[in-house]
Amino acid sequence: MTFNYQSGELQVRGHKISDIAAEYGTPVIIYDETYMTGMMQKYHSVLKRHNLPYSVSYASKAFSSVQMIKLLEEQKMELDVVSIGELYTALAAGFPVEDIHFHGNNKTPEELQYALQHGVRFFIIDGLDEIELIDSLADDDVNVLIRINPSVEVNTHDYISTGQEDSKFGLSLSNGAAKRAIDNINASKYLHFKGIHYHLGSQLDDSAPFINAVTNVYSWLDEHNIDIEILNMGGGYGVRYTEEDVRFPIEEGFNAIIGHLKEVVSASGRELPHVMIEPGRSIAAEAAITVYEVGTIKDIPGVAKYVSIDGGMSDHIRTPLYGAEYEVVPVKDANEDADEVSTHVVGKLCESGDIIGKNKMLPGNLQRGDLLAVKTTGAYHYSMASNYNQMRKPAVVFVGENGVRQVIKRQSLEQLIENDVR
Ligand code: PLP
Repeated sequence: MTFNYQSGELQVRGHKISDIAAEYGTPVIIYDETYMTGMMQKYHSVLKRHNLPYSVSYASKAFSSVQMIKLLEEQKMELDVVSIGELYTALAAGFPVEDIHFHGNNKTPEELQYALQHGVRFFIIDGLDEIELIDSLADDDVNVLIRINPSVEVNTHDYISTGQEDSKFGLSLSNGAAKRAIDNINASKYLHFKGIHYHLGSQLDDSAPFINAVTNVYSWLDEHNIDIEILNMGGGYGVRYTEEDVRFPIEEGFNAIIGHLKEVVSASGRELPHVMIEPGRSIAAEAAITVYEVGTIKDIPGVAKYVSIDGGMSDHIRTPLYGAEYEVVPVKDANEDADEVSTHVVGKLCESGDIIGKNKMLPGNLQRGDLLAVKTTGAYHYSMASNYNQMRKPAVVFVGENGVRQVIKRQSLEQLIENDVR
């Protein structure tokens, strides 16, 4: 395991977490860089084995920063972005623009113009009006995929389920919107239809919805006699936040999905498409922990014990937003005679819902100044961080083969008001 106890202390690859916290302050998000490169290599090796054209694109919304993007480029990953800001970050890191795909359900004219000017590899069309808009802004050929809703059931939280009919994302196969999009693209001046994209949802733990999506999409393609060069299956491969979670089985899962795709494609007498996937969470989430310092402790007799930390919903929104569960552990292994007690770990922000975890079993002798680590915070944490209560966004540190390096500095107080007119 990436983060484990040695000599009574949580460590990552031989570096003490308490030393990193002392150097960079708390809250701090600490990544094991090697875990992330290992995951990128795993996706490559699993897909390569199937002898078909493929690419692995990282969903930069999970966690984007200049050093992260550089790591992705080294590992021959492609990149998906959903905003001018994500695109700007990628370009600032020197990522090849021809390996960038532009997603989003409401790309603004400013974003489209910026992406066209830099020449992203393709846009993923997510609304009928976007076709006309891109065509009016373009002055050269533009490759596009369309995002469709394959109407498959997924077993995940509503907030991260995306491939259903009733959704702000995608175009319906059944109500004619997807077909109309392709017709409009074919009738446009600059747009070229290259293929289909779908993203079924996040935190999926088995291949069944992906297999069903392939079936639905190809029967629709057959029905309308549509050819595609690219099939982009999106991301969503689940990770383990707690012991109850099941990781998406990458190897067996893709054996099943690609095996099914090959059968379906050959049954309909087609060539294999270029297969794309877009993992985000599964590359970054389990690679990181967030370390906080304990402050006020309230033990309300007969009610509950609250332990407050020096961060909260400004750097950890998934629990307040949709009840996501995490493991919380002490950085110093509790000495053997310290009993574990049920503890509510709460943030310091002014909302009662600012809760990191309820009823976490933590040492009863926790004190102000002790460090706690929340595990599996590498995805959708820093990227979802806010300045609520004028909290500063935390520092981010990578630990890799060459040691410990800071990749994002903690925001300064001055930065909190740098855009304020004074
Ligand atoms: N692709 C698209 C279009 C997405 O919307 C998302 C997440 O929302 C992803 C990929 C990445 O999903 P995950 O981080 O669960 O792998």
